[in-house]
Parts: sequence; structure tokens; C-alpha cells
Amino acid sequence: MTDKVDIAIIGGSGIYDTNMLDRVRTVDMDTPFGKPSDSITIGEHGDRTVCFLPRHGTGHRISPSEINSRANIFALKKLGVRRIIAASAVGSLKKELAPLDIVIPDQIYDRTRSRPSTFFEDGIVAHIGFADPFCPEMSSAIADIARSGGYSVKEGGTYVCMEGPQFSTRAESRVYQALGFDIIGMTAIPEAKLAREAEICYSMIATVTDYDVWHEEDVTIEQVIGNAVKNEAAVKDIIVEAIEKISPEQHCMCRDALAGAITTAPEMIFHETRRRLDPLIGRYLKK
Ligand SMILES: [Zn+2]
Repeated sequence: MTDKVDIAIIGGSGIYDTNMLDRVRTVDMDTPFGKPSDSITIGEHGDRTVCFLPRHGTGHRISPSEINSRANIFALKKLGVRRIIAASAVGSLKKELAPLDIVIPDQIYDRTRSRPSTFFEDGIVAHIGFADPFCPEMSSAIADIARSGGYSVKEGGTYVCMEGPQFSTRAESRVYQALGFDIIGMTAIPEAKLAREAEICYSMIATVTDYDVWHEEDVTIEQVIGNAVKNEAAVKDIIVEAIEKISPEQHCMCRDALAGAITTAPEMIFHETRRRLDPLIGRYLKK
């Protein structure tokens, strides 16, 4: 585990295909927040070092509410990751966003209830800016790549993150739709928040699997999985291009998200807390 990883892909297990990678190896990691969802697969693609992490674990055994996103993001930070591309299957809240369309969202409306969503607690407080929850630069580059690949892509849009694991009621779905939101899923929060706290760029390729229940038909898991499988080829294609074309160097606000955000007086931060969070805060606190 000596190589620094440039870019991480978080997705369902169907999304990645290690055929695109050379020198493939897996690492089992541990973090102060526990173990990530699974082993992390690392490999080379050209001159980029890339890793994959299936957020639901191999065989899809971790429910959205149970994903240990703190361990996932912390492990990626320890690997030196500066960019995360997250793949996510979503329901559409708009007539014009049809199944198999791709959305690169720029906003999130958080409806989760019970997920640990910060690294900063137990004696340390930080308030990061989260007005733009996805990395604007990387999202725009990914949208360009998807468009030039000929895919039907919407750049921008609001992702409602619900708790799940049940799908929405018709009343909830109609309210989200009336509020003008675009897509609904269960995983962007807290991943996006934690990535920002870790100063890692985070963008999402959301693929539409169904019209959510506002559209009268019920959402069935067969439909969702069937379309998710069809979307995999598109997502893989976009991810490969993104790995090749997007510079691993960050030139955006994400890289300094913690600057000025830690409000706890440095002398009051316990040694143990500093040690635990060193990969995140080491650069801001003198030893
Ligand atoms: Zn960024």
C-alpha cells in the first residue's frame, strides 16, 4: 500500500470491471471508524492509479442506512485519493428524465435520518461549506465526457437522498416532484458530506432506473435492477474516459474545504483526537 491512489470509484459491484486495470491488487483496510464496505481494489490505468469500492459490499449485503461511509471515505483518504466518482442508481422525478438517462446532479436535498455524517465529533467541531455539494469542476468535466460519448445526459439537478430502504410513498414522491427536484436515491448522503470534510472532490454519475411512484406505476425491484444492469455499460464507458481525461490535480474549492472550518481551539483538541483524524486535519494543526 505504498502507491498513492489518484481517483476512486464508489459504486455498485456491477459498475467496475477490473479488465480496464493493470497490476490489480486488493487491500483490506481499517480506520478509526471501522472497516470499509469491502476490500478495496487498486490498479493502474495508463499513468493513473485507480481504486474501486463497492458501497454495498460484494453481493450487495449492506443496506443504504448501514453503509459505513465514514470508514469508506476515511480509507480512501488514507490511500491518498483526491477525486471520487460515485455511481448511483436513481428514480426520476421528472417526465423528461426517462429510464436509462444519465444525470450529473449539482444539488442534494437530504431526507436521511439516522446516518453518522461527520468525522468531527467527540471534542472537535468543524463546519465546512456545503452549498455546492458536488465538485463543480469535476462534474462539468464528467458531463462533457458523457455528452461527447453520445449519452442522454442532464447536467445539474437536485438529488433527493431518502433514508430507505423502502421506496417512497406516492405522497412523498409527489411532494418532491412538486418541489421541482429531479432524481431520488439513497446513497449520496453522507458520502458527499464526508468527502468534502476529507477535501476530496466528489461527483456523481446518477443513472435513472425508473420513474418514481408519482408517475402512477409502482417501482419494482425487477425494473430497477434490469435498468441498472443496462446502465452499467454506459457508466463504465464514462468512468474510463474520466480516468483518462480528468487531471488528478485539484484546482477547486474542495481541496481546501477545511481551511478555517475547525472551530475548536487547537489547544483544546485532545492528542488522541489529533492522532485519530491526522489524515484529515494534520495539515491544519501544528504538532
Ligand atoms: Zn473539487
